[in-house]
Amino acid sequence: MSPFSQRALPATLAAQALHRTDPHTGAVIAPLHASTTFLRDENNQLVGAMDYRRPEGPTEQHAADILTALEGGVDARLFSSGLAAAVAVFDTVKPGATILAQTQMYYGAKKLLQRLDSDKRIHLALFDPSIDGDLAAKAREHEPELIWIETPANPGWAVVDVAGAAQIARETGAVLAVDGTCAPPCTTRALDLGADLVMHSATKYLNGHSDVLAGAVVTKAQNERWARLCDGHALTGAVPGSLESWLLIRGMRTLFVRFERQSANALALAQALQGHPKLEAVLYPGLPDHPGHAIAARQMTGGFGGLLSVVVKGGAPDAAKLAASTEVFLQATSIGGVESLIEHRKPIEGPASPTPDGLVRLSCGIEAEADLIDDVMQALERV
Ligand SMILES: *Cc1c(COP(=O)(O)O)cnc(C)c1O
Repeated sequence: MSPFSQRALPATLAAQALHRTDPHTGAVIAPLHASTTFLRDENNQLVGAMDYRRPEGPTEQHAADILTALEGGVDARLFSSGLAAAVAVFDTVKPGATILAQTQMYYGAKKLLQRLDSDKRIHLALFDPSIDGDLAAKAREHEPELIWIETPANPGWAVVDVAGAAQIARETGAVLAVDGTCAPPCTTRALDLGADLVMHSATKYLNGHSDVLAGAVVTKAQNERWARLCDGHALTGAVPGSLESWLLIRGMRTLFVRFERQSANALALAQALQGHPKLEAVLYPGLPDHPGHAIAARQMTGGFGGLLSVVVKGGAPDAAKLAASTEVFLQATSIGGVESLIEHRKPIEGPASPTPDGLVRLSCGIEAEADLIDDVMQALERV
């Protein structure tokens, strides 16, 4: 890093991709290194720092360095998807040890944990983030090796107090890992709040354009667990392609402005929808009546994000109708892109999911606020 980079604020580091230009050409934008292999000299010594692109090439390293700087960590690894990153974290847990996670969380990660549990690889214990004190009680009862939290959590946007969870983890000897996908470092720096590891589906906000599948884990410390994770990363080979890594760098440069606009759009939409006669609830951490609002206001310093859900009074049929009736919001899964997406969530998660039948998830993009509000209002009229 240049001396400039060491004092610059995260928004500046992101915009300038760590101020890392190409010394060979003077190009302002660092190149995409596609090479899978790297030269050795006459003494069989590597000419540069790398030898083979699994585990890491220069473009992957650059993207990982940006994320490390944004999260205030000491090291990061990129993966081929968010779930591959989650697998790498779970793989650091000793056989038979307990992972404590949320009743409501990203359904893919929960399914993965349930599978590891039924295979007897780990023991899965759950806490309900909507019950005060449940995390502390379950941590004392189960003595987990790893506490895994997601905040705000899919798809009801329950907020978990990261600093509080870190305190509980310290008291019970657990490691705290945070799925930071829905609260990227422009709004929450989980490591600063006491987490040991932060995982991201970079597919979502970090890239932000719905055109890259990638994941990442950032660590607060170099330790045995991190060494095992890096080992697993290199040995299992769930690494992103160079094009994905390069696109992720480009995506992260606009993270701060995208997130600000998405947060403003979501807040305006949530406010406009509050009290709508066809809705049972509007779930958004930015609304003062959201149960997690006070904690969110404290730990989401760069905005409450673009994600909200509504629960329609008419249940599953009306939720399906709503999701099919928008014109600006595109009906598709995923979150965090610059285009707005809408989804009737329960059919995606399956019958075992605790998600209400009438829940519709909205991911606000960066379009004009009035278009988003008008769109959902006209769709609700058709319900
Ligand atoms: C999408 C998502 C994941 C999984 O990431 P992929 O990149 O799809 O593998 C994990 N956690 C959360 C919160 C997500 O939204």
